Amino acid sequence: MEVFVDPDLCISCGTCIDLCPEIYDWDEDGKAKAIEEEVPEDLEDCAKEAVESCPVDAIKESP
Ligand code: SF4
Repeated sequence: MEVFVDPDLCISCGTCIDLCPEIYDWDEDGKAKAIEEEVPEDLEDCAKEAVESCPVDAIKESP
């Protein structure tokens, strides 16, 4: 799977970074970004948990 954060939607709550810091981090504008867009298999669960936990649905995933 791949993940992508839409910076226009992100409200910088930090949830995705708390849940899955191996995949998400802050960008230079204080919005979340995916460090690894192509998610390694062993991190798919936490990457998906972040997708489901984002309060504004800013994280998009593709299979
Ligand atoms: S959970 Fe959503 S709104 Fe919160 S920092 Fe991550 S992408 Fe942004």
